[in-house]
Amino acid sequence: MQPQRLRLLILMPPRNLKVAVTRAAFNNQRSHMLIDFHTHYFPDNIGPRVIKELTASATEPVMSCGDGTLRSLKEYMRLDGVDISVNAPPATKKEQVISINRKMIEQNKTGDGSVICLGSMHPDFYEIGNVDEELGFLASQGIKGIKLHPEYQQFYPDDPEHWEIYEACKKYGLFILFHAGVDLAYPEVHATPKRLAEVATIEGLKLIFAHMGSYRMWDDVLKYLCGGNFYFDTAYTAGADDGIIRELVKAHGADKILFGSDFPWERAAAIKKKFSGLFSGETLDKIYFRNAQKLLGV
Ligand SMILES: [Zn+2]
Repeated sequence: MQPQRLRLLILMPPRNLKVAVTRAAFNNQRSHMLIDFHTHYFPDNIGPRVIKELTASATEPVMSCGDGTLRSLKEYMRLDGVDISVNAPPATKKEQVISINRKMIEQNKTGDGSVICLGSMHPDFYEIGNVDEELGFLASQGIKGIKLHPEYQQFYPDDPEHWEIYEACKKYGLFILFHAGVDLAYPEVHATPKRLAEVATIEGLKLIFAHMGSYRMWDDVLKYLCGGNFYFDTAYTAGADDGIIRELVKAHGADKILFGSDFPWERAAAIKKKFSGLFSGETLDKIYFRNAQKLLGV
């Protein structure tokens, strides 16, 4: 290229170049925000051990990323372009509830805001504490919701015994993020679509059913859950069939799907790759951050 022509090009960039630059900036902006609604980290002293034990107990090979600590979660958030992660801590024993909750409150108050911690509850907590009081306290401390895991915690979600937890969450405006469907560490499934649909009959209770409604129970998700007034998250679905994911999103509605990875068991990058290959524009914006922003008030 002649120097004269080059100088002209710099001074007056051709129209299509300008369009390309503007479009790139626009696309960047579109995909800028990413909220991962389903992640886990563990205390520094037990993180690596938990990762090892859970990976070993799985019924089929499971990959994990990092060492299970908060530092590791933040490192992968940076690598995968995640702006905010929601940490969902399940208490495997009733005695852990108070200590987990106090740590989560502390983290939310002292952290940089990039990791938002939920609280915890255990189905047997009523034996040692006051369920209503503890959940009310969480809400008063700015906690947005709790995690329940019917497999780790070995309970049937539709058992009326647990209505006390659900009613208190409803009363204090806390949402419940339920593990849903198959968990590779447990042969029996407690959190089935049919049982979760029972919990969803409680009007005004905010619910999120992880793993697109119930991992690997897609027919029953379509039958009992799709279209209901609650959210699904996308955690651990990078390996799911494309056609099924498309069908579930269509049947349930993109307004009620939250991006989630289930880190450290799956990377946000893997879920992002899957969903950006299947959806675009407004649908993707809703899934990636808009629905989560509404729910979290951020
Ligand atoms: Zn999880």
